[in-house]
Amino acid sequence: VKDLEKRFKLKKAVFAPPSFVHAINGVNLVLHEGETLGIVGESGCGKSTTGRCLLRLIEPSHGEVIFEGKDITHFTKSELKAFRKQVQMVFQDPMDSMNPKMTIGEIMAEPLISHKIPKAQWQELLTSTIKLVGLNEDHLSRYPHEFSGGQKQRIGIARAIILRPKVIVADEPVSALDVSVQSQIINLLQDLQEELDLSYVFISHDLGVVEHIAHRVAVMYLGEVVELADSEELFRDPLHPYTKALISSIPRKDPDERKERIILKGEIPSPSSPPAGCKFHPRCEFAAEICKTKRPALKQVYGREVACHLY
Ligand code: SF4
Ligand code: MG
Repeated sequence: VKDLEKRFKLKKAVFAPPSFVHAINGVNLVLHEGETLGIVGESGCGKSTTGRCLLRLIEPSHGEVIFEGKDITHFTKSELKAFRKQVQMVFQDPMDSMNPKMTIGEIMAEPLISHKIPKAQWQELLTSTIKLVGLNEDHLSRYPHEFSGGQKQRIGIARAIILRPKVIVADEPVSALDVSVQSQIINLLQDLQEELDLSYVFISHDLGVVEHIAHRVAVMYLGEVVELADSEELFRDPLHPYTKALISSIPRKDPDERKERIILKGEIPSPSSPPAGCKFHPRCEFAAEICKTKRPALKQVYGREVACHLY
């Protein structure tokens, strides 16, 4: 992902000049084969917009999304369709995209229809895929309401993997689930990653969950990536003051791992009128004069990336 930007036009009074919200601004990311890249941040930080731009479910305003050497932002409809066979999305609420009157088998077959997979392959794909997500063949003839939240998410995942994609973008896939069920789904995603050679972009506001699944983590604040590092390093030794605050708020059982809780002052500013300079400066305890006027670029520091004038 190169310099990705998404502006939304705001509805304004008739004669006022058009104004924009920068949902994301200058986002650069790399997803390596076989890895899980976590994207974390509070709501409104642009992580979902980023995820949707990766599949062009939202059209980016600027920038490139390069998949296997090709920039998908210029793809034609048919190229985009072929691309989406390789890159699938899993959402927070799988029910949003499930017709309650369709059986699980019919729901899972929808991608097979839209991508014109020969009917002769359906049965094998349906039965192997439902087993891959820990359900069984009998479930194919049942209806969504017969399943628990965790099972529904298994079905959502089944539909995402039935075309055997290479990449899955998962937006808050466990946020609606009980904690015990969350870890089952995380384990399932990890097993599937091994089995099917999947790469994940895993979007979540929940750092505890991201720590568990991600190999690398990008932290976003008001539409920008402020820190990007190996998961283990990031959680052990966060550099950006915002990341430090986020990580200090994760509950820890082990007292050695506990960090002094940093309470952030103030609320996240509105994305429609973000602060100048470093967007985090009104809430940052280290803010200096330069932070109010100059936007810090994301730069390499100790083998990772951070956008902060302190480094
Ligand atoms: Fe804080 Fe300045 Fe760093 Fe922004 S650039 S996080 S305000 S120290
Ligand atoms: Mg979101």
